[in-house]
Amino acid sequence: MSKPGRLLILSGPSGVGKSTVRDRVMEQSPVPLKLSVSATTRAPREGEQNGVDYHFLTPEAFEELRRQDAFIECKQVYGRNVWYGTLRGEVEEELRRGRWVMLEIDVDGTADVVRQYPDAVTVFILPPSLEELEKRLRGRGTESDEAIERRLARAAYEIEKSKFYKYPIVNDVLEKTVAEFCDIILRTSGESE
Ligand code: 5GP
Repeated sequence: MSKPGRLLILSGPSGVGKSTVRDRVMEQSPVPLKLSVSATTRAPREGEQNGVDYHFLTPEAFEELRRQDAFIECKQVYGRNVWYGTLRGEVEEELRRGRWVMLEIDVDGTADVVRQYPDAVTVFILPPSLEELEKRLRGRGTESDEAIERRLARAAYEIEKSKFYKYPIVNDVLEKTVAEFCDIILRTSGESE
């Protein structure tokens, strides 16, 4: 029998360096990973490509997919009428084929996914401290004070929920974080043999 595929869930607060960690792990993972492309109703940022970074949808198109039960989970991440969702089409066929699929989703979406896929491997990237996270967010220089306050409040909520993740990793030194993450994948892939 072929080995079953696994879901790998990556979460962490805004400003923690999640996308850098994700990109490095996608390159260095000991098993091939497919990145699930989420759907969202938010506008693309400069440089983001439809179908690569997200499937950018109108609220109507998103709602239609929701009605068709096309999402494994979907959430309004910042509670401001912007939707994000994991499409079944990005995940189910890959898992059936025994492939590993990485989801980069928030803490509430993770809870829904874990209910449906109890063997999902959950990884939470933590900042060394909240002070350090604030420093990193301010260092970007891209957000207003109000937006930073909102992200910090959300970060505190997410960090509180990190206790539900199997593998919390403190992102202190990037290379160390990536190595730890790859080691988790290696050990877990051994378990399912
Ligand atoms: P951003 O707008 O900065 O790309 O993402 C904002 C947040 O939405 C991040 O925390 C990201 O992990 C989360 N997110 C992205 N896609 C999904 C998804 O499909 N489902 C859920 N629940 N959260 C998502």
